[in-house]
Amino acid sequence: MRTGVFVCSCGPNIGDRIDIEKIAEEVSKIEGVVLAETHGLLCSPDGKKYLASKIEGNKLERVVIAACSPREHEETFMKVCETAELNPFMMQMANIREQVAWVTPDRNSATQKALRLVRGAINRIIRHKPLEKTSIVCNPEVVIIGGGVAGMSVALVLANADRKITIIERSASLGGYPANEKLVEHLAEKVAERSEITVITGREPVEIVGFFGNFIINLDEDADEIKAGSIVLATGRSVDESGRAVSPEGFREITEMLGISADENAFPNREHVSLAPVSTLIDGVYVTGCAGGLCSLTEAVSRSEAVAGTILSSLIPGREVETEPKTSVISETLCRGCKTCLEVCGYGAISFDEERLVCTVNSVLCKGCGNCAGACPSGAVKAQHFTPDQIRYQMAGLLR
Ligand code: SF4
Ligand code: SF4
Repeated sequence: MRTGVFVCSCGPNIGDRIDIEKIAEEVSKIEGVVLAETHGLLCSPDGKKYLASKIEGNKLERVVIAACSPREHEETFMKVCETAELNPFMMQMANIREQVAWVTPDRNSATQKALRLVRGAINRIIRHKPLEKTSIVCNPEVVIIGGGVAGMSVALVLANADRKITIIERSASLGGYPANEKLVEHLAEKVAERSEITVITGREPVEIVGFFGNFIINLDEDADEIKAGSIVLATGRSVDESGRAVSPEGFREITEMLGISADENAFPNREHVSLAPVSTLIDGVYVTGCAGGLCSLTEAVSRSEAVAGTILSSLIPGREVETEPKTSVISETLCRGCKTCLEVCGYGAISFDEERLVCTVNSVLCKGCGNCAGACPSGAVKAQHFTPDQIRYQMAGLLR
């Protein structure tokens, strides 16, 4: 297997603290390493061009990059691999900047430590397997939870743009808290006239899974699941005897299903109170009306228009979103059906197969967090790209 190793100087950041030439020289002796070179700034446009040409020119099958934190440039170098037609998961970074150069003052010790990290990465990459990125088409439909003034206002704007909308209202009819009966009546009549809008009353979501572009909402009775690309929380608020804003029944459960964090008053945290006041921290989930904080009717309507505008500009029909390739997989042979994994998965990605009595992972919903792999008492879950084998090999390289 042809492995290439690239040691970045990161300007003076790494080069001044670590003998990068020595590292390149040492690792070039490792079996399978066909190329080991240093570069001044790999993430620069020149550096990326250089890297791509080396991968292609030397027909590299594996690449190790000793540089900064993967948090900073893993994506960058994965893209370079793709342009050079190398599967991006056949690249491994060794963080010799944050973990070595910036914290180890003695040059000799730093060089030795960096060398261990690079050896670990070279050892690990022998166990890498190419993973494929897939993308799925966004569902342009929208589900609105709450059929008051705010919810109906969003629905009407979206309907004007030919989007299909489902309003789910837990009470028997549209209207919510009747702050202005004439307005509610007027909006409800307009909603009834629109064929793009489906209204479901007397029901509420019991399960919401998925992500931006592909949410699945299950209702409390034997109803078909509803699929949507975005979800709008338009559930109203009321005020208790002491004048405090209280959330409607079931609201907390919905925010928990969506994994949305809330402030001390149970209002969902927003992406940015001034810059993105209707966006929650979960992509594709928005708040309007009093679900986003107490407001007047006028304000509720303008929040709804903002939500509709955000959806129309982001949830574009035909748009594709990439799914996570580093998902977990469950071995049917090893699984004992204890459901521990199902309980720890925060993304609703695991389900129990009642016939086979085993758990399975929905790879579209899995975010690759690895919780299930850590929790499974039978070793039946494999977190791809973080397998015990890969980690063991990396450790062995480090400790050699
Ligand atoms: S935790 Fe492991 S053994 Fe238990 S159901 Fe999940 S995969 Fe199967
Ligand atoms: S890796 Fe995380 S998201 Fe994926 S199935 Fe396991 S617990 Fe769920």
